[in-house]
Amino acid sequence: MRKTLLIAAAVLLSSRAAFAATLLAPEEVFQGSPVRVTTEGAAFLKDVMFDGARVPIFTYNGRTRAFIGIDLKKTPGKYTLTAKLTNGATVSKTITVIARGTPTVASVDIPEALGGNTTSSQNNLLASISAADADIKKIKTGAAVTWTQKFIPPLAALATTNPYGYSVSTGAYTLPHKGVDLEAAVGTPVVAMNRGVVKIAREYRSYGKMVVLDHGLRVQTLYLHLSKMNVKVGDTIARGKIIGLSGESGYVSGPHLHLSVRIGGTSIDPVPFLKLFTPSLSVKEIL
Ligand SMILES: [Zn+2]
Repeated sequence: MRKTLLIAAAVLLSSRAAFAATLLAPEEVFQGSPVRVTTEGAAFLKDVMFDGARVPIFTYNGRTRAFIGIDLKKTPGKYTLTAKLTNGATVSKTITVIARGTPTVASVDIPEALGGNTTSSQNNLLASISAADADIKKIKTGAAVTWTQKFIPPLAALATTNPYGYSVSTGAYTLPHKGVDLEAAVGTPVVAMNRGVVKIAREYRSYGKMVVLDHGLRVQTLYLHLSKMNVKVGDTIARGKIIGLSGESGYVSGPHLHLSVRIGGTSIDPVPFLKLFTPSLSVKEIL
């Protein structure tokens, strides 16, 4: 009798364990960070809400996940993440957004080729940035993820010359730097960080020759200031394929690759995004 009870208890425990799941998400993140949400255990994400908005779900490595982009200007404080799971449970977690601190302001001259530091060239530059940003905003994202493997760096070696999050002042204007500048001599091959569809491949006065890849569900990677673009709008590009060569086109003070990653319309820091897939990723910082 006693033995039977023990067995019954064990069965109950194991069946509970079979349905138990933990919601995995960071407790604290800096402004401008990517957030990855997933579960551990037998249940999967079914529906995810963050700060009152629904977050799309995708499957990677056999488990459902979600990405949230925390804006650089998101008000620091506590936000609620709520997930419905496939076992019927609804679980919540608080994510605290932490201020990055006052951004450093760097003054960058407008190159002579773009008219030098005059009011009219400042205005032209700003108009070009607005036009490019409007084109990026208009991108129609894929209804499903285009990728099944991890995101990889766009260059063979990663060295940041200007980090994400500081501000660039150009005469009367101060613009936030919502990407990372990577060291790259003119002509360095730039590869697709993952499989995606080319949504923009054109030259802007501000961003230079720019390629934008859509990876579905509002995740995009942007490659700026290229010297050569090897792809055209509508192409589906395999992960690791050369999309162009780095350069110094547009508003730059020297050759480099500016990389941006957008999640849900928010440009987040590409370095922690890559580290979600490759925690051991080596990134050199050049001051
Ligand atoms: Zn940049």
